[in-house]
Amino acid sequence: MVQSAILGFPRMGVNRDLKKATEAYWGGKISQEELLTEAKRLRLAHWKIQKDAGVDIIPSNDFALYDQVLSHIQDFGLTFVFLSQAVPERYSSAKLNPVDEYFAMGRGHQKDGVDVPSLEMVKWFDSNYHYVKPTLQDNQEFKLAANPKAVAEFLEAKAAGIATRPVLVGPISFLHLAKADRGQSVNPIDLLDKLVPIYESLLAKLKEAGAETVQIDEPVLVFDLPAKVKAAFGPTYQKFASLGAKIPQLVFTTYFGDIVHNLEAIPKDIYAVHVDLVRNPEQLDTVIGALGSKTILSAGVVDGRNIWKTNMKKAIETVETAIQKLGKDRVLVATSSSLLHTPHTLASEKKLDPEIADWFSFASEKAVEIAVIAKAVTEGPASVREQLEANAKSMHARATSSRTNDPKVKDRQSKIVPSDYNRKSEFSVRIAQQQKKLNLPLFPTTTIGSFPQTKEIRLARNKLTKGEITAEQYDKFIEKEIEDNVKIQDELDLDVYVHGEPERNDMVQFFGERLNGYAFTTHAWVQSYGSRCVRPPIIVGDISRPAPMTVKESKYAVSVSKKPMKGMLTGPVTCLRWSFPRDDVHQSVQAEQLALALRDEVVDLEKAGIDVIQVDEPALREGLPLRSGKERDAYLEWAVNAFKLSTVGVEDSTQIHSHFCYSEFQDFFHAIAALDADVLSIENSKSDAKLLKVFVDSAYPRHIGPGVYDIHSPRVPSEQEIKDRIEEMLQYLKPEQLWIDPDCGLKTRQWKETKEALVNMVNAAKFFRAKY
Ligand code: GLN
Ligand code: ZN
Repeated sequence: MVQSAILGFPRMGVNRDLKKATEAYWGGKISQEELLTEAKRLRLAHWKIQKDAGVDIIPSNDFALYDQVLSHIQDFGLTFVFLSQAVPERYSSAKLNPVDEYFAMGRGHQKDGVDVPSLEMVKWFDSNYHYVKPTLQDNQEFKLAANPKAVAEFLEAKAAGIATRPVLVGPISFLHLAKADRGQSVNPIDLLDKLVPIYESLLAKLKEAGAETVQIDEPVLVFDLPAKVKAAFGPTYQKFASLGAKIPQLVFTTYFGDIVHNLEAIPKDIYAVHVDLVRNPEQLDTVIGALGSKTILSAGVVDGRNIWKTNMKKAIETVETAIQKLGKDRVLVATSSSLLHTPHTLASEKKLDPEIADWFSFASEKAVEIAVIAKAVTEGPASVREQLEANAKSMHARATSSRTNDPKVKDRQSKIVPSDYNRKSEFSVRIAQQQKKLNLPLFPTTTIGSFPQTKEIRLARNKLTKGEITAEQYDKFIEKEIEDNVKIQDELDLDVYVHGEPERNDMVQFFGERLNGYAFTTHAWVQSYGSRCVRPPIIVGDISRPAPMTVKESKYAVSVSKKPMKGMLTGPVTCLRWSFPRDDVHQSVQAEQLALALRDEVVDLEKAGIDVIQVDEPALREGLPLRSGKERDAYLEWAVNAFKLSTVGVEDSTQIHSHFCYSEFQDFFHAIAALDADVLSIENSKSDAKLLKVFVDSAYPRHIGPGVYDIHSPRVPSEQEIKDRIEEMLQYLKPEQLWIDPDCGLKTRQWKETKEALVNMVNAAKFFRAKY
């Protein structure tokens, strides 16, 4: 019999219940006991969904109140790391209970005289989920908690009559995803010998509790690994194997990429190996060839990262290929990764067009799919004929729908010629013309786009959605906001203005709502970090722009302003990355369609008298494939091309800006330079100014605005601080290259601190202007 397995289930619940409960707890509105009761209710509900769907292997310990890696940090006794970096005496005297200590590590703690920062949070591989980074000391010791979470949750499920497979982050991934604490120099992998015994006792405890198998996640195997890390797999898993029946059987689990470059690291003496066959189906044969003679293959064929219905025929074929080589006893069918990255259930979507809804499958529906696939390969397709027929019908409907295929878009794509990717003249020519038109002083000041999204703005938007005000009333309100923003910028004496983006709910959704080819959900939330969830729009078909999207507001802004006004757009790569993309055409095709739509918008803005246009690409870096080499080069090529295609349709005298929320460009600086943007604004206030050296080393000729202060905190930077920062930047950049701006948009800030900070910023710029 071929069993079905799920690698992890979303935790938030049908109505983001976990978010509501944790935030209520943080706000002092419910007790800790109430929070824990709610968490327990959610775990049970999620196990039941999977059981009722007919899934054979259901995960436990995939739940976390904040983050699963953070749960390991706490269970391994790493808390004191956090204590030592965070005013230990005051902190320990505050004596937080374990739950509060856990949240304090995740999100900081500022209460009753205790003020501790959170641990660092980082993106989980190439997903939009963020994990808490384990932070290690040179003399790090580990200590297993008396009642480890993995054991407790296994027993909780058992008591409810559900046998589960506990999920652990494996020891090598745990360390490779960790870092040395500030001022420490330990290479995390060197702590492996100290950590392995912790896993040995944890695994033994799980076995005692009754766990037959454990899913041990070693996703770092999809990276290019340092030799030392790669070499650690063999001996570590050999040690686990030598424990025999004292510990559960291990399912060695990888996802989000292929592992063929790390084949030697796959343990031979292991119960099962899981690979992601949605992302890299071509690795199947090679991985099978590298398995030990008894090892089971767990075939990840249901996408844990997207919302599309599984193509059953294709999935079954993949599984059958594996069965032919290994036999039914040595194959499991599984989700490609945890379903954490998918929304809870499609059943909540009451407003979706039924034609489109038929193409989707969220976590709860994927649970059914995986069970159906297992049945099909165990008992034969006839046993699930109805489901397979319905699935084939959906696949056909989607593939042939006019909403998916727009011949006009394809036709336009086929007519793109090389010159569509280049500005008319090179930068030196362009900047002279731009300067003639814009007449900007040295060290021009500007902001990144958004101004504070006030309560009034959100209220007006809500009223419009509910039909309590008319579209005209709303437009008038937005015009007034823009006018106010212009006045404020007059007072601040900035050089290049923005309209402030009051009309935008979100920098991607706003554009999605104005483009053909997008669909929107009401409940399809996925966890981003802690209690924070995002609801990405879905790209369902060929993308085109039926009408201008931002021209009305920008034109109005120009009409009320005496200084140059920037038009503000979200770039094609960011629109793609922060949406659920299609899985039936390559992402490069989708980026190109978005680029063509944005190109028209850019040209229309220019026609409307906008001389400066900013196209933001904050998501460019996160799209970088996890490994360097061919795949990464290919990505950078199409991503850069998409940006250029969207921006180069303008005259030389129109100035193109772009913005990135980071300044670590070392790995792909050639791509940043290839964008050929006249002005780049980047994050720099929290990073080392030395990072700007890449611009010098490559003799980067264009303009750069490294953010001079951090917008993520309400703190107002002093004029002197900003001057010092600019002074530092001038070690690397020429005065005629340097723009003065904040790190990012100001939408999350209050007006009071925004104005104060900008006054100081403008004064600092004026100081240098006088000096040079
Ligand atoms: N223009 C956007 C803003 O100011 C940029 C946001 C971002 O980079 N994430 O809000
Ligand atoms: Zn930004």
